[in-house]
Amino acid sequence: MSETQIHTLPANYTATTDLLGDKVILVTGAGDGIGRVAAITFAQHGATVVLAGKTLEKLEAVYDEIEAMGLPQPALCPLDLMATDLDTYKNVAEVIEEEFGRLDGLLHNAGVLGDHATLASYKPKPWLDVMQVNVNGAFLLTQALLPLLKQSPCASVVFTSSSVGRKGRAYWGAYAVSKFATEGMMQTLADELDSISKIRVNCINPGATRTRMRAQAYPAENPETLPTPEAIMPLYLYLFGDDSVNTNGCTFDAQPK
Ligand code: NAP
Repeated sequence: MSETQIHTLPANYTATTDLLGDKVILVTGAGDGIGRVAAITFAQHGATVVLAGKTLEKLEAVYDEIEAMGLPQPALCPLDLMATDLDTYKNVAEVIEEEFGRLDGLLHNAGVLGDHATLASYKPKPWLDVMQVNVNGAFLLTQALLPLLKQSPCASVVFTSSSVGRKGRAYWGAYAVSKFATEGMMQTLADELDSISKIRVNCINPGATRTRMRAQAYPAENPETLPTPEAIMPLYLYLFGDDSVNTNGCTFDAQPK
């Protein structure tokens, strides 16, 4: 079996301040952790960010932060990825269509960890919930937004993977399986869109990053020893900026080993 090639940020890459000027980018899980910092960072580089996520108060706080910095006015998009009805996702597309007419970027960042248990003992409810948020919700959102991504002169879709989505690990259960599925969804979509559209599709594995999810997975770890979400943003900027326009179907490590 051939091993998947892991890509990294090109050496000496620096994002210009106006890298994402005029781009409309939707970030899921924009209220906390990596998604919050990605949304703010994209706005700092000129993007109009659509803040999608579960907890409205958190999204509003990020909205206020972006506004207070005098950056392009973001849009609020409450979205619970536990939703299984197509209308929820169609509504997101309709709102973006009405307001912007196109979408230039989609960062699938929202995720849940689920239980730490063997597959033999994993409970069905948390299993299904993890699959819904991490895989099915991302699929339904992508499908609903594809027509808008096709309206962009060059669009970028980025899925969020994990090291346990490339090599399985005991007790990581639904989370690990969902991240394998995420890599598969990225590869399948990238291949389908290759040479028939201007949409590129790639994955980022953020690596160990100082967030609530990481603390939940490793409660005994000192968070101060971990890179912050801000530290991994250069790769996110690269994949949403036009420098990566010819990069499709690749999986990246934000923290090269
Ligand atoms: P986090 O701080 O826990 O943030 C997760 C985000 O997902 C939150 O904004 C959360 O919203 C949102 N979310 C959860 N359930 C949702 C739902 N049902 N609908 C919509 N949004 C929902 O985690 P993070 O560390 O930033 O993780 C971001 C991504 O990186 C995830 O895909 C994760 O698997 C991946 N990752 C992280 C690490 C790491 O070390 N941190 C390593 C590898 C991969 P609420 O706050 O409103 O619940």
